[in-house]
Amino acid sequence: MIYWIHIARGIDRVTLHKDRCSEVPSTHHSSSDFWEGGWFDYPDKERALLAMEQAGTNEQRRCPLCKP
Ligand SMILES: [Zn+2]
Repeated sequence: MIYWIHIARGIDRVTLHKDRCSEVPSTHHSSSDFWEGGWFDYPDKERALLAMEQAGTNEQRRCPLCKP
């Protein structure tokens, strides 16, 4: 199971998604940078949760659509 995190620096929020969530973009944004924001995939939930911690945003949430 792949997990995705979406880092949104502009609104100071990181969101956890499951693979195949409708909100996950089908194309990868090569310009994504961990410190700038964007979409990042992880092979397991533990690493995704760790990445959410390291993102350092004020808000951490689970996607209401896919509910990881
Ligand atoms: Zn989602």
